[in-house]
Amino acid sequence: MMLWFACTTLTILAAGYTLMPLFREPRHYLAVDLLAETELDRLSDRKAVIYRSLRDLEFEHGMGRLSETDFKRLEAEYKNEAASILQKLDQLDASEKLDEKIEKDIASRKSKLYTSDSKPAQESLRCPSCGAEVIPGKKFCADCGRQI
Ligand SMILES: [Zn+2]
Repeated sequence: MMLWFACTTLTILAAGYTLMPLFREPRHYLAVDLLAETELDRLSDRKAVIYRSLRDLEFEHGMGRLSETDFKRLEAEYKNEAASILQKLDQLDASEKLDEKIEKDIASRKSKLYTSDSKPAQESLRCPSCGAEVIPGKKFCADCGRQI
């Protein structure tokens, strides 16, 4: 009874250990995707805020509420931040494209693997005289006796 219990427990543990990566992997990829998405969202939001601030800044400046020096300084600050955000967005975009490229590469390798797998092992031999199928390795046709 004790042994049976131990065996069952071991089997369950072994099964759990074997199956664990199957459950863990998709969640891991999901987390990475979510992280990338929120980072992209965050940067896009920040970019929108900066562009709006720049418009406000120009408006304020046009209304004469901002001195030339303040306007130039703030404009430079916003534009610097916008540039760094655009750069980060580019990097995110590039890494996404790289992922796509890798996935496509893997897919094409897989499809090549499958096509070579599904290809018939050998074209069946046919007798040149009667056209009957010849068993590979045989020297004579089983139908008409012609030498192959
Ligand atoms: Zn034949």
